[in-house]
Amino acid sequence: MSSNSNYKAGRHFLQIPGPSNVPDSVLRAMAKPVIDHRGPEFPALTQSILEKLKPVFNTQSNVFIYPASGTGGWECALLNCLSPGDKVLAFETGHFATLWKDVAEKLGLHILWMPGDWRHGINPMLVQEKLTEDSNYEIKAVLAVHTETSTGVTSRIGEIRQAMDAAKHPALFMVDAVSSLACTEYQHDDWGVDVTVSASQKGLMLPPGLSFNAVSELALERAAENQGMHSYWRWDAMLEHNQRGYFPYTPSTNLLYGLEEALNLLHREGLDNVYARHSRFAAATRAALAGWELENVCLNPAEFCNSTTAVMMPEGYDADDLREDILSRFDMSLGTGLGRLKGLVFRIGHLGDFNELMLMGTLSGVEMGLKLGDVPHRTGGVQQAMDALIGS
Ligand SMILES: *Cc1c(COP(=O)(O)O)cnc(C)c1O
Repeated sequence: MSSNSNYKAGRHFLQIPGPSNVPDSVLRAMAKPVIDHRGPEFPALTQSILEKLKPVFNTQSNVFIYPASGTGGWECALLNCLSPGDKVLAFETGHFATLWKDVAEKLGLHILWMPGDWRHGINPMLVQEKLTEDSNYEIKAVLAVHTETSTGVTSRIGEIRQAMDAAKHPALFMVDAVSSLACTEYQHDDWGVDVTVSASQKGLMLPPGLSFNAVSELALERAAENQGMHSYWRWDAMLEHNQRGYFPYTPSTNLLYGLEEALNLLHREGLDNVYARHSRFAAATRAALAGWELENVCLNPAEFCNSTTAVMMPEGYDADDLREDILSRFDMSLGTGLGRLKGLVFRIGHLGDFNELMLMGTLSGVEMGLKLGDVPHRTGGVQQAMDALIGS
């Protein structure tokens, strides 16, 4: 046997803002044998999952589960409710908002695209202004990304709903909660969201492969009137089969086992405690940034993000060089800068199955990487984060 100096002992630190770390009990749940998805045992699994999933979205209405990534969830929401040529209002908060807009464009929708600086969330006043201007109700839907994972900025969905109501506009409200769900309080019903899109691999602590649409009664009505040319994503078929505990086609059985266990873990901890834990770790991470004298991409404290913190590199220093150094030296993956932030920022994921010492390991790896890479910073961010954790 030849030895390998690249061998990594211990656990890899997966600190990208999704996929997030998967708890051991979820991995074990997924290792169960596959069962017949049309057999007598399946409805109990489906019903248990749907029942435990609704409180995570804070909804009484339907949540549909698809074997797909989050991108499929975006497409599903648009295809069910809208038709080519329909106008939608969307906001350039960052990379994911831009990708959703691209999907909408490819489906033939007409986008009213509000440019942004990638450092702020959606301005509710702008929503109100654009909808008020649209006196013929040509805009059929408003698309909003709750947590923009590329920038670590969380838009204020409740206030955006109030703006839509103030404009007395009938557009559907569609929200991407892929990286906020189970990290940040989310109120599908109370915020009057018509379609919430989410996915398995962020706060839900699962591997990638499931996407979700939580759907209001209004959205279901609009979908029933819609003559779109699509089949796989149809909500009506999903609804009909789910009511009997089944799916219209073969579901991802083992991911559903994992989902049931992940939901058990979330409810055991208590969702409010889950949100508080994320909020505490995000605050400690910002304390580290302040200690290092490095800048947070998010400029508005009312929009600070529980799931991830995007860190600006000092000018002339490449974020991906730092990430590579940290990966090879400390076996930790940090999130890359996406889109126009490529090379300019790195992102620290602090979501999902994550605790104090995992956070401190993560921040220590960052501080050592900054030092080894001669990146200008002040020493002691790690200490500030520890103080924040103890003090909070
Ligand atoms: C991760 C993520 C997605 C989903 O991306 P997929 O790669 O298709 O799963 C969508 N929106 C946001 C905000 C995300 O963070």
